[in-house]
Amino acid sequence: MGTYEIHDHRFRALIAGHEDVVKLAGGCRWSEGPVYVPAGRYLVWSDIPNDRMMRYDETDDSVSVFRQPCGHANGNTIDREGRMVSCEHSGRRVSRTEHDGSISVIADRFEGKRLNSPNDVVVKSDGSVWFSDPTYGIDSDYEGRAATSEIGACNVYRVDPSGAVTAVATDRVRPNGLAFSPDESILYVADTGFTHVPGLPRTIHAYPVAGDTLGEPQLFATLATGASDGFRLDVRGNVWTSAGSAIFCYAPDGTHLGSIALPETVANLCFGGPMRNRLFIAARTSLYSVHLQVRGL
Ligand code: MG
Repeated sequence: MGTYEIHDHRFRALIAGHEDVVKLAGGCRWSEGPVYVPAGRYLVWSDIPNDRMMRYDETDDSVSVFRQPCGHANGNTIDREGRMVSCEHSGRRVSRTEHDGSISVIADRFEGKRLNSPNDVVVKSDGSVWFSDPTYGIDSDYEGRAATSEIGACNVYRVDPSGAVTAVATDRVRPNGLAFSPDESILYVADTGFTHVPGLPRTIHAYPVAGDTLGEPQLFATLATGASDGFRLDVRGNVWTSAGSAIFCYAPDGTHLGSIALPETVANLCFGGPMRNRLFIAARTSLYSVHLQVRGL
């Protein structure tokens, strides 16, 4: 198959070499934001240009539309109470789907100005919601609705459980994927600014978490190809990220351990399945999965 490329022997313990990447669904235009819902054993992902969210049911392999329209949803996650939290491009907000199905707003403004187009989101154990806000959803009508940025910057924000929104990282060009380390001492933030500034490296930075704020970032990884549009960590702190038509796996020390090849450009991924060792991959028109030997966080 040639599915796996091993750069470091540590990668062998993380993968099951005989496991193939399996295609679960197709027919999308740009798949993003996969999130696994353990209580229902299903996965929801975003098909951004089609303004819909899709659902893959792990119990019978069926695929259906979860929500349409959906504010051109991009990144999704599950909070500590099991509620889905979504980044909406054309909604220009981060929203939460409550247990009764109603949708409430977590954040739609910073200092009185509308957000650009929230891209990816994580929830910390204290209930705070952290999200990136690049311009991809307002750059054109393709992934949202064209508009001028009111804020004039692309930041990472923290929403306190009280609702207060603060900018925690203001030094990125186009912050995109983000995730905490297992002990939440580090927030990893991808920068896909090369889409707007030619020549910029494709990077992931590691920000030390200092209470409700972030310290000085360190460069964690520079991707040779593709973009770190989205990534997740496993329980050992390895970073699994999109990287062109592949997934790259980085050790906590930044070593590129290995890669998994995909037939399409990967946007984002998440761990799921009853044992959290099944990696679900949103890649352009399709949803894929592969079983690993390590669990996701
Ligand atoms: Mg993204």
